[in-house]
Amino acid sequence: MPNQISIQSYKTKIGELLLGSFDGKLCLLDYKYRKMRAAVDNRIKTGLDAEFTEQDNELLETTRLQIDEYLKGNRTKFELPLLTVGTDFQKSVWNALLEIPYGSTSTYLQLAKSLNHEKAVRAVASANGANSLSIVIPCHRIIESNGGLGGYAGGIPIKKRLLELERSDHTLSDDQKYDFIGSKDKKFNGSFFTAVKTTGIYCLPSCSARKPKRENVVFYDTKEEAILNGFRACKVCKP
Ligand SMILES: [Zn+2]
Repeated sequence: MPNQISIQSYKTKIGELLLGSFDGKLCLLDYKYRKMRAAVDNRIKTGLDAEFTEQDNELLETTRLQIDEYLKGNRTKFELPLLTVGTDFQKSVWNALLEIPYGSTSTYLQLAKSLNHEKAVRAVASANGANSLSIVIPCHRIIESNGGLGGYAGGIPIKKRLLELERSDHTLSDDQKYDFIGSKDKKFNGSFFTAVKTTGIYCLPSCSARKPKRENVVFYDTKEEAILNGFRACKVCKP
């Protein structure tokens, strides 16, 4: 029997993903319907001398959990064993991508400089595009030098969404959080909690209860903090 790469599809709010593990490590996390799907798959199969087999395992389960947490804004770092399949140069680019912190961006030129390959910007861009461990190896954090978003295997709207997700966690001021209350959007559920001093109740940002006055609202990053400060969970949004 040939070596096997365990494959599972996973539907998320940013599209359907293809997950693959080999020898206890994650070797594939990519947009299922991207361009070059066959080329990327073939590179991995050839590189590992293995075939795709539809089957689930603990690592893929953990991967799905961590993606969910990330997409909710509750995870800034992935803890997954990775197996990259490519040339030494590609691997050096992917390792450099892993150094770009959550919530920040870099450019192809900066990336090339960090690898002491200042003249290899195009090769760096191409290795970036060949990344088959999307999200986990954050190629979405690479934008153009002029501030443009650049390309993305998952599509530009998804890239924009990931960058906004990562930014929102860090730069939302209390006033911005307050403006958000009442919009019923679930985007920030899990990234902060609103607590109302006059009622002693804490809520999810998406709560549909009446909007409290600004001076009565305090914000907490976790519900544990809200509870520690004497607030009770709202019966409407059940945080
Ligand atoms: Zn509520």
